[in-house]
Order: sequence, then C-alpha cells, then structure tokens
Amino acid sequence: MTKKRILTGDRPTGLLHLGHYVGSLANRVRLQNEYECFFIIADLHTLTTKPSPADIACLADNARQMVLDYFACGIDPAKSVIYLQSAVHEVCELDLIFEMLVTVPRLNRVPSIKEMAKSANLSELPFGLLGYPVLQAADILLPRAHLVPVGKDNESHVELTREIARRFNSMYGAEVFPVPDVMLGEVPTLVGTDGAAKMSKSLGNAIMLSDDAKTVEKKVMGMYTDPDRVRADIPGRVKGNPVFVYHDTFNPDRAEVEELKHRYTKGKVGDVEVKQKLARALNGFLDPLRERRAGYESRRGFVEEVIYDGTQTMRAEARKTLDAATKAMGLASVWNRISRKAEEAKKKQRAGGSIGQT
Ligand code: ATP
Ligand code: MG
Repeated sequence: MTKKRILTGDRPTGLLHLGHYVGSLANRVRLQNEYECFFIIADLHTLTTKPSPADIACLADNARQMVLDYFACGIDPAKSVIYLQSAVHEVCELDLIFEMLVTVPRLNRVPSIKEMAKSANLSELPFGLLGYPVLQAADILLPRAHLVPVGKDNESHVELTREIARRFNSMYGAEVFPVPDVMLGEVPTLVGTDGAAKMSKSLGNAIMLSDDAKTVEKKVMGMYTDPDRVRADIPGRVKGNPVFVYHDTFNPDRAEVEELKHRYTKGKVGDVEVKQKLARALNGFLDPLRERRAGYESRRGFVEEVIYDGTQTMRAEARKTLDAATKAMGLASVWNRISRKAEEAKKKQRAGGSIGQT
C-alpha cells in the first residue's frame, strides 16, 4: 500500500524555537515513518512581510540553519523530501489557478493575516499577504498531501485549503486533490517567555532549539511568572503561568512538576528554584538536539545537498500534479490544440516549400 503524504514547513526567517517544536516538529518526527513527508522551506512566503534585498540575502543561510534544526529534532534526511519553494515554479501556477476559486471577503476573514500585517508594521495589506493562505493551499496540494501538521495559527489556512480542494474537484469533475486534514501539536500555541504572546522569533520571547545551556538558563531566569507573587511565601498561580506551562511540556519528571506546583500554590517555594529546575529540564531536552545538530553541521555541503535533491524530487511531483490539474480543467488542451494545428501547418509549409501557401 502506498503511504499517505504530509506537507508542512516553515518560513526561513531565522532559527526555530520550542514553539515550532511542540506545534509541528514533534509530529513530523513522530510520523516520518508512517507517511511520505514533504517539508517546504517556504521562502516565497517570507516575501509577504520581508521583500527587501537585505531580507532576501539572508534566505540561503536561514534555510540552512532551519534544516539543521530539523535534523537536530530527529527528522531523518534519508526519509523526507526537503525542498526550496522558490525553486519549484509550478507552485506559482497552481496558486494562480486557486486564486480564481476564492473570494476576497473569504480571505479577509482569515484571522492570521491581519495579525501578520500588524506585527510586520504594515499599515495596509499587500495583495500578496492577503493571498498568503492561497499560496499555502498550493504548497499543500502540489504534492497532494493528506495531512498537515501545524501550529494553531495555521489551522485556518488548512481549512481554506480544504475548501479549495473540494471546490476544484467539484468544479472540474475530477478527484485531483485529496482534502487534507490538519494535525495540531500537543501544545497548539506555546506561549513566549514573556507570558504575553505566542513564542515568536520576531518578538524576542523565544528559546531557540540551538540555544546553548547558559543562554537557556538566562532566558528562563528572566521569564515572566505570577506578577502578584512578590515574595516566595505568597501563594502563586500555576494556571497560565508560562514557567509551569514549560514544566508541563518539557519536564519528564512528572513527580517533580507536581511537587513544585503544590509548593508554589501554598507559597512554599521560591521562583528561583522553580526556574532552575525548569532550565535543567529544558537543557536535558535540548542536549540530544544540540549533539545531533553539531554532527550534521560538521558535514560540509550536506544540508545543501539534501535541499538540492529534495527540490529535484519535488519538481517531478509538481509537474505530475500540475499536468493532472490542467488536464482536468481542460486548460492543457488549449495549448495542445493550438500547437497541434501549428505543427501541421508548419509540416505542410515545409512540404510545399514556401511560406503562406496552403
Ligand atoms: P515566528 O512566529 O516565531 O516568527 P513564524 O511564524 O515565522 O515563526 P512559521 O514559519 O509561520 O513561523 O510557522 C512554522 C510552524 O510553526 C507553523 O506550523 C506554526 O503554526 C508553528 N508555530 C510557530 N510558532 C509557534 C508557537 N509559539 N506555538 C506553536 N506552534 C508554533
Ligand atoms: Mg507565523
């Protein structure tokens, strides 16, 4: 039986963090044997908010670092297709086809778009940013994926992808695209160290998967906790406290976490102890990742080779999908009919010896 497919990925805007891990990467690692996996380095998507030459100049390095983060998490380079979006041009063609199947009011209702514009300090919405989820639908449906493991902020984009797949199939009377399912992570939105917003590279509230032990310790010691708890003997709040959210997510010593929570709510433990134990747990979680990352980092050109090979594989898949889509639409036959007649005419001309004779 052929395996079902996964498509997911990330924008190469910098190093990946704990939020990416629990939101999506953990599921990718867990499912990589069960599914045929396609991971997109979504560099075209970065253009929606970062289109300057200086931003573009960072993409190749960022892509490399991001893929090292994948390998650090346990994504096996031999098992998945990791490819560069901008090098698979078919995605733009599929995007254009899908643009005709979505209305502007529908896109205006996608919640993440306005948030992205706001955090990028854009006062007005660029056309491409409004169309971001349509391009994402093209990303997902180009390898004809069945499952999309993503964080909560991407859930509405997969919903739109489902609508587009259904609409395409019913409009053109062919089951070209599967209707893909979304899979949210164990923690669909991981809060940042500031406790104010989701963990995000752009907000400076992130613990990176590649941070060294000292950096992790420093970030944890500076974390936001219960603001009402100005002394250790005041009972504290565990619910919604980012320090305990991280303990719950990353500390494998459940008994330690429960005991800390108990003492915290009774005002019997200081923030320093809770944070030190968290830093230790996080470093315990990150140590194997750091080791794997260092191993891959020392192999010169390896990451680039994986991206190169993955992109070639994806190009072949993309061609197949686009051929199936344009055939179902009848679009492919427009050119086929014109070129067939043109070729016949040319053949006649060659046989007749002069141009314009019938
Ligand atoms: P950041 O927001 O940190 O700048 P990003 O938004 O550029 O990162 P994306 O490429 O948009 O990262 O997201 C990659 C994947 O990681 C998506 O599936 C997204 O939902 C998930 N993700 C990102 N941040 C978090 C988080 N804090 N918690 C859970 N999932 C997250
Ligand atoms: Mg994002």
